[in-house]
Amino acid sequence: MQTTSLRLRIVYGGIALATLALVVYGIYHYQTTVRSLQNSITKTNIELLANKSVTDQKIKDITDSLASLKTTNSFLTDALLSEQQKNALVIEQIGAVTSTVGNLEKLSKTDPELLKQYSKVYFLNEHYVPVSLSYVDSHFASPETKQLQIHTNVLPYLTNLLTSAQNAGLTLRLDSAYRSFGTQAILKAKYRVTYGSGTANSFSAEQGYSEHQLGTAVDFTTQKIDGALSGFEKTPEYVWLQANAYQYGFVISYPENNPSYQFEPWHWRFVGVKLATEIHNRATYFYAMDQRDIDTYLANIFD
Ligand SMILES: [Zn+2]
Repeated sequence: MQTTSLRLRIVYGGIALATLALVVYGIYHYQTTVRSLQNSITKTNIELLANKSVTDQKIKDITDSLASLKTTNSFLTDALLSEQQKNALVIEQIGAVTSTVGNLEKLSKTDPELLKQYSKVYFLNEHYVPVSLSYVDSHFASPETKQLQIHTNVLPYLTNLLTSAQNAGLTLRLDSAYRSFGTQAILKAKYRVTYGSGTANSFSAEQGYSEHQLGTAVDFTTQKIDGALSGFEKTPEYVWLQANAYQYGFVISYPENNPSYQFEPWHWRFVGVKLATEIHNRATYFYAMDQRDIDTYLANIFD
């Protein structure tokens, strides 16, 4: 019995020791594992921190680069815009210069006398002859046997005007167009004989003297007054001219109620469509304008 009891004690003691050893080992193993895990976590944390720092630096670098690129881009955009503006300006300047050159070239080829204001003290030289003259369709002359000439460049404008008046049911005719210096002198002498020299000098024929020699002025009449000049202001042809002549580049040189010249309803001068339209719109007349203003229309007189 004694032996059995001892054996049991030994067995229990053994079991207790083994259990204790197991517990001690378990604790030891647990602590080791925890420490190892802690170490691992710490290491990972350190690595993570290091990586984060690198990443942060990279993000900062990229942000800086982006900001720098944005600045560069903004600068380039400004530079591009500036260049575009400069180009536009240069193109505009080239256009203006081309236009000026074109106008100067036209001007150099245009007879400066064509838009001059003539008076008793400023008139055409007796030797002046238009560059080119052309005959007007005899159908429009009064009488039809009369051979009338006009400045060649004015002819199409005059023909259009006369045709339009005809289409409007009128019988607008030409009593006179180009007159040479010689013809003018004869005419003037005729007036002098008829009216006396005092009257002849202030007479209407004197006013348009140079304009007829220039080849751009005409004296209108109509069958309604049998080709006469006086009384023309009472005809529908005159009324039509007042409303429409400017569209063909013609203006009345000495209109009614002007303060300086005797009224000549029949005498009209070609000044170009642009200037005639300006005169018509401003309700003024050629001799009331400033010569310097008039000269700006010279280059485009036949446009
Ligand atoms: Zn005349």
